[in-house]
Amino acid sequence: LKSVSKSYRTGGEETEILKDVSLEIDKGKYVSITGPSGSGKSTLLHIIGGLEPINSGEVWVDGQPVHTMKDNALAKLRLKKIGYVFQQFQLLSTATALENVMMPLLTMFSSPQIKKDAEEALTRVGLAHRLNHLPSKLSGGEQQRVALARALVTKPEIILADEPTGNLDSETGKTIINLLEKIHDEDGVTVILITHDPELAQRAEESIHVLDGRVELKPYKVAIR
Ligand code: ATP
Ligand code: MG
Repeated sequence: LKSVSKSYRTGGEETEILKDVSLEIDKGKYVSITGPSGSGKSTLLHIIGGLEPINSGEVWVDGQPVHTMKDNALAKLRLKKIGYVFQQFQLLSTATALENVMMPLLTMFSSPQIKKDAEEALTRVGLAHRLNHLPSKLSGGEQQRVALARALVTKPEIILADEPTGNLDSETGKTIINLLEKIHDEDGVTVILITHDPELAQRAEESIHVLDGRVELKPYKVAIR
């Protein structure tokens, strides 16, 4: 990010959320984002993921200018490079676990490979036995693992996770974090994780703290994991 400013306009009033933010995240890093509620963490992640336009500045992802890209090109970039995991899982309730994970692939190509890839992603998150379950028949942790499989199925280079453990008890949350760490360690995927949990934040190599519209990127001298 180069000198990124972001404000929201509501009811005729303009509120500046990010002020002249510059930030560089190296490929393959595991980075956490911390900061008080309402400070702009999700906004920052949305901007990195090309889901939210900015008012000024530049956003570059893997050498591509997200800030000037048209919707089509942006959609392609997101599909090819980025996996997103949300706090509220965001699964389609009428689709099974397998169908939810097949979803991103359907927009890319159509082949029998899609089902195989989706099964493989679900197997990776430990859900090979839950392929045909609807989200309503899955526990919260299982739903979040389906969401993680959906993020992984396109083999992204970057995973953006917005409080993926926020709706889970701490034990279940740990299984999600362990999976994220495994994906980072084994595949070299860049992980950017928003968390309110200081202990989880410290497991990252670097942490971005968002406060009063500014961000600070600090390496953890001794990661605790
Ligand atoms: P939390 O920890 O509670 O998730 P956050 O740090 O992720 O908070 P954001 O969701 O980025 O915070 O929101 C930052 C500020 O921007 C908040 O004051 C929020 O009300 C405001 N905001 C977020 N999205 C919009 C929007 N689409 N329109 C107007 N204001 C918004
Ligand atoms: Mg948020």
